[in-house]
Amino acid sequence: VLCLKVIKCKAKDTFLKVHKYFLFSGDKVIPVFLSQCRECHFCKSPKTNQCVKAWTEVIMDIMCPIDSRFSCKGKKILQFSGLGTFTEYTVVRQINLAKIHPDAPLDKVCLIGCGICTGYGSAVNTAKVEEGSTCAVFGLGAVGLAAVMGCKAAGAKRIIAVDTNPEKFEKAKIFGATDFVNPKDHSKPIHEVLVEMTNGGVDFSLECVGNASVMESALHSTVKAWGVSVIVGYTLVQSFTARPVDLISGRTWKGALFGGFKAKDGVMEMVKRYMEKKLMVDEFITHNMDLCQIMETWFGLVLTVPDWCVMTFQVKQ
Ligand SMILES: [Zn+2]
Repeated sequence: VLCLKVIKCKAKDTFLKVHKYFLFSGDKVIPVFLSQCRECHFCKSPKTNQCVKAWTEVIMDIMCPIDSRFSCKGKKILQFSGLGTFTEYTVVRQINLAKIHPDAPLDKVCLIGCGICTGYGSAVNTAKVEEGSTCAVFGLGAVGLAAVMGCKAAGAKRIIAVDTNPEKFEKAKIFGATDFVNPKDHSKPIHEVLVEMTNGGVDFSLECVGNASVMESALHSTVKAWGVSVIVGYTLVQSFTARPVDLISGRTWKGALFGGFKAKDGVMEMVKRYMEKKLMVDEFITHNMDLCQIMETWFGLVLTVPDWCVMTFQVKQ
């Protein structure tokens, strides 16, 4: 995900029609994979952050809209998530651009355009974590850490961080985790461990891995009478199972894309919170690199603790 400045605005007639959301050259924006056209029935509903004009509605399985604007030597190149941001320049629809505070540091707030909103919003908007509650967050990648932060912001008194890599626990503590569980330290299923730890199950659980069996564990970790489990991790290739009685007893199993935040409004609001020092962002960043280091960065991220690297693209004016 990238932050950028608007360098050219075409289609002035369109912009006049949506004058309130006008973008000017030099505006700072964050591209978001979800769109917010503000005109469709999804955008007009406060119940969802979906937009009928989103690429996700069109062709989700190849993570790319059909109308990619990129080509190389005559061959069409897929534009990842409808954005294609591993580039110095890109062309995206204005409904995918969230205009942000002019003083926002782009090398920091770029993280708000995906993982931070996804994790944080899943706790605050989707799970609707309550004050004094007990939460469990499965998976402590960037999204999981943001979910921990969201649980804390919502007033959770106990936040159990679950991950098979104990190196991540120290960082989770910074974001508000109070208890740490490594499934590898236990011989019994992890949901049984959590149910025992909490005398019946957690109030809220958030699955931030994208693994179907972890989703099932997260559901079964919640208290059967009112537990809420949110699927945050993304996967297309697996299915999961649950018995009707798991839900009939009172649990809720739900999911959210982008933490339930409307693409433009959510990003603008989260950047504002960061500027007001109400949201941690800097704490996520462990490396800063430039585009020519992309391969080592990528393999580094895959092979070690998934810390976050901000990549800077030098644009020749
Ligand atoms: Zn819309």
